[in-house]
Amino acid sequence: MHKTLLVDKSICSRLLYSINMTRNYLLGIDLGGTQLRFILADEKNGNIFINKINMKKSFPSPFCSAELYKDKCFRVLPDSVKINAYIINKLLAYLENLNTRKEQISGIGISVAGKVFSDKSFIGANMPRKFTRKIGNKYAIDLISALNKIFKTRIEIENDANCAGIAQSIYYAHQGIDPNTTFYVTVSTGLGGGGPQKELDEIGHMLVDGYFPGLKPRCGCGAYGCIEAFASGEGIRKQTLTILDMYLHKPAVFKQFNIYEKIRTANKYDVQKIIGKSELVKLRQHQQAINTKTVFELAYQKNPDKFAYYLVDTTAGRFAKILVNISRIHNIERFGLGGSVITNNPQYINLVQNKINQYNADCILGQKIKVHPAPLGDYAADYGALFLVVEKKYQKRWIKNLIKKFL
Ligand SMILES: [Zn+2]
Repeated sequence: MHKTLLVDKSICSRLLYSINMTRNYLLGIDLGGTQLRFILADEKNGNIFINKINMKKSFPSPFCSAELYKDKCFRVLPDSVKINAYIINKLLAYLENLNTRKEQISGIGISVAGKVFSDKSFIGANMPRKFTRKIGNKYAIDLISALNKIFKTRIEIENDANCAGIAQSIYYAHQGIDPNTTFYVTVSTGLGGGGPQKELDEIGHMLVDGYFPGLKPRCGCGAYGCIEAFASGEGIRKQTLTILDMYLHKPAVFKQFNIYEKIRTANKYDVQKIIGKSELVKLRQHQQAINTKTVFELAYQKNPDKFAYYLVDTTAGRFAKILVNISRIHNIERFGLGGSVITNNPQYINLVQNKINQYNADCILGQKIKVHPAPLGDYAADYGALFLVVEKKYQKRWIKNLIKKFL
């Protein structure tokens, strides 16, 4: 009896092993600013838990630190090939660890936090130029050619927001919504977006107007007054500090600012009146850290901090205008909003929706715009890369599986 059981067990494990060896997977590479992540998913149904093992694994991003290249195997290489060498080195170790042969990879999708050019080369957002080489008339990295030497399969690459937007649009398509009318927006440290309409890009750098001249902020792109510099996590934090410092240290300028805001908001806000009672002033006076999280928490607490709410309300107004503009020009009807500022503050979405309705109320074009939490939520990054290479015939099963497992 004991012996039979043992035999059964070994047949079982051999069977499992052989199933594994013949299964095909899609590989997702999420090339972020701080992390490099790999994910394997069953090609047919998108399952990422295979034999109860989660197929996700993270490494430090090849963009972020020269420390990574101290190892002799990288040190001897020219700078321009180090990033590709690092990614491939980690990838092969990852596959070996999961007992997966490269022939089992039937497609590779790459999501990059950075700019992807039309020839599919790219540049990472925070990547030192010395790691690039001249390709055509620009400096970039060609990861696809390097991977193609090892993997004889289809490889696609896209900017991370576009990946999330494409994955989200496939989800919407299976809900009966035209994917081309959908767009993904992420509001975290920065502000950006993506979707199936390729020409709709770099929304964070649309210029906004209607602010007090002393509040004109500089954007990470170098320009002044981009929406990212007002409405991103970092933008909200900096605006808050600028107004607080004006109040605390430049009373004459603050007085002008207050008049300006009274006119702009048709007397809805008298900032001078509400700022004095704000917890944010006390935090600033005591040199305690103020971040976007603090502002939202105070704005939405049971007894709201009126100045904090004014900051959130103003930001929502500017952000909503940008969304209405995008909608009118590109015929977008659904915005899936993601990123930490949104996911940590779900009430903010309602505020943005109310502003949109308000701006659209008298418009005879009658475009209905809906904003809601990005349907794939935190999985947008993981599945964003994978969805670039999911075959159409399997998409429905992937979406069904995703809804059942995570949503
Ligand atoms: Zn900008």
